[in-house]
Parts: sequence; structure tokens; C-alpha cells
Amino acid sequence: MGNKDYHFRQLLEMEACTNCQVCAEVCPAVAASGDGELSAVFRMKGVKDLVRSRSAFFQRLFRRETWEEERGKHFSGTSFRCTLCGNCQEVCPVGIRLKDLWLSLRQDMVHSGFYPKKIEMIRDNLARSRNVFDEENEERAEWVEDMRDAPDDGFIKERAEVVYFTGCVAAYFPLAQKIPMALAELLEAGGVDFTLLGEEEWCCGFPLLGAGLKEMFREFADHNLEAVREKGASRVIFACPSCYQMWREYYPARFRISHATQYLLELLGEGRIPLKETPLKVTYHDPCDLGRGAREFDAPREIIRNIPGVTFVELPRNRENCRCCGGGGNLEMIDAKLSAEIARAKIEEIQSTGAQAVVTSCQQCVRTMTTFVRRNKIPLEVMDITQLVLRALDR
Ligand code: SF4
Ligand code: SF4
Repeated sequence: MGNKDYHFRQLLEMEACTNCQVCAEVCPAVAASGDGELSAVFRMKGVKDLVRSRSAFFQRLFRRETWEEERGKHFSGTSFRCTLCGNCQEVCPVGIRLKDLWLSLRQDMVHSGFYPKKIEMIRDNLARSRNVFDEENEERAEWVEDMRDAPDDGFIKERAEVVYFTGCVAAYFPLAQKIPMALAELLEAGGVDFTLLGEEEWCCGFPLLGAGLKEMFREFADHNLEAVREKGASRVIFACPSCYQMWREYYPARFRISHATQYLLELLGEGRIPLKETPLKVTYHDPCDLGRGAREFDAPREIIRNIPGVTFVELPRNRENCRCCGGGGNLEMIDAKLSAEIARAKIEEIQSTGAQAVVTSCQQCVRTMTTFVRRNKIPLEVMDITQLVLRALDR
């Protein structure tokens, strides 16, 4: 246990917090639970105290005591019950990079032995199977077989210009598999020379960072980079904003990378995906990692506006202020009830717009919102933007 998990900048940022509590007002976990201990400001005070408790200087100056087991366990609860949505960071007037801090804090909690048991499951699954669900990694591209016109090569070529990196959720979760199916069909329609990595695709590493297991991450990144290199590709595309975020921020920049929304917008601009009239009133949910994370707010909106017949209405909280769906930060694995409560607030906000469908650009958001809507028999269609474009495709 130690303060080495924090960057020097982060130790300074802890001292910069003014206790203004603006971060607590936008936190979806606080709103859904009514528990102020889940707020960034509470966590900030705790992490500052934890860091100081380890310093002999601060112990003398402020009589700080070393954290005992019970206190560490309690604090671990707030560290992992957070969706890592980054809304607190977005509004912090001091500009503290809170999301990075929460990742460092989780790593500290793991090193200190204060972490939920589920973290061990995430670690073991990834070490054993290279995907977060502990499925056979050889079956990563089996969803292709369920497509209407599945190609003989299963979309796995020896070499291609573009690699479509599917991510664990889309590869294995039946509810999310419609997304890679839709994107693959659109890429085919657009005449794109693309390939999947199949069993050579490993988890992007996001669950490892979210679980405070940064040490394991490099092996996953190195493997994926090599797998893309072997395909001779110059470009990698992602429908999953978390995979895209990982490649943008944590992988060395060896290839041109794009989120599916950016790539599809290019194809539409080149006239490679013809669209037909599709009457539907939709709203758009900005996934946290694509919106606040990658600052990509416009590409999905431009795609939606390109589809004839679609009526687009904004959510009351949109773009950088968009409310998290509850599916991020490994929260579903740690506290499924809290995740569902956050989804409830999201769905109520969507219903207030009168939209027939909510469109997003993330398989995890689709999964979280669809699960809630189905369980509660709510008449609302939840779809990924790839599914909307496929519906509008003029074949
Ligand atoms: S990242 Fe999101 S869920 Fe976590 S503390 Fe900040 S606002 Fe709350
Ligand atoms: S918004 Fe920033 S400065 Fe204000 S309490 Fe939260 S972390 Fe501290």
C-alpha cells in the first residue's frame, strides 16, 4: 500500500478541491441512491485523507492516523460504486481530472487489499480467457454465423485495409450482437475491405483499468496491436466507445483509429451508403466515453439528420451534460441494483421527449437500457446507431 498509484499532478489536484460540491449535483450514482458518499466531493476528501495518513509529515502535522481495515473497506464501497461517467470532471470548476483520479484510486484500493470480490473474477476471467465474460476466445466471432448472409470466410481475412475491433460485449452478449451484425452489413454495403480479428482479438483492457488492475493491461494492448499489424491494416474502427477510448488514450498511435459513427459519416459523405425514407421520432443518448471522453458529439447527430424521415429531438440533458445510462465503470458487476436505478432515471428522461426510439452509439448503453425497458415492459425502442442506419439502408 502506498501513494505511488497517484501521479504527482493528482496529489496537487487533491489539494486544489474547493469543496464546492458541484460534482455531487450531476452524479448519477448520488441521484439514484440518495447517498452523498458516492459523490466525487466525498471521495475527494477520503482520498486526500488516505494519502495524508501515509505520510509521516502529515501524521506529525495533523495527527493523521493510519487507516484501519474497517475504514478502508467502507471507502472501497464508494471507489467502485461509480460509473466512471466523467460528469463530475466535466463540471468541476477547478478542472480536476477526476476520472483519472478515480482510476488511480481503484488501483490503490486493489494494492491496499480493499476491493470487492468481483474484481478477482474480472482479473481471473481476463487472464484465463482474454475476454471479460470468461467465454472461449475462439468463439469471439461466432455471431457472424447468425447473420442472414454469413460469408464463408466469417469476415476473417488474412489481410485487409480496415480492422473492425468488436469488443467483448458485442462479441458475446446476444442482446448486443445485433450491433456488429449491423456494422458488418453496412461495411459490406459500402464496399469496405475489412476484417475481424476473430480469436486474435483480446479484450481492449478497459475492464482492467476500471478494476484497478493496470499492471495486466500492457500485455493486452501489445497483443492487439500485433494482431492488427499482422493483417496489414492501416485503420481500426470500433463500435464500442470504451474500446475506442482505450486505443485513443492508452495504446501507442500506430494506426488510424475511428469510432463507427465517424467512419459511417465518411461513407455516407462519399455516397457509399444510400438511405431510404425511414419515418421515426428518435432521441440520442451520448455514451460517456464517446461524448465526454472522446468529445464526439456531432458525428452521430449528423448521421441521424442525414436519414430522410427521421425526426430528431434532443434529450433535456445532452452532449457533455448527458446523464449516464448506468452501464459504465464495471458498476453492473459490482452493484447491479444501483446500475438499474441509474438506468431508470435515464429512461424516464428519454420518455419525457416523446421519442419512439432512443439511439446511442455503444453496445453497453444498448444493453443497459434494453434490459431496463424489457424488464419494466416500457414501450420504447432502444437501438445502436448502426442498427438505425441499417434500417434506413436502401438496398
Ligand atoms: S464519474 Fe460519474 S458516477 Fe463517478 S463520481 Fe463522477 S459523476 Fe459520479
Ligand atoms: S467540483 Fe471539483 S472542486 Fe468542486 S467539490 Fe467537486 S472535485 Fe472539488
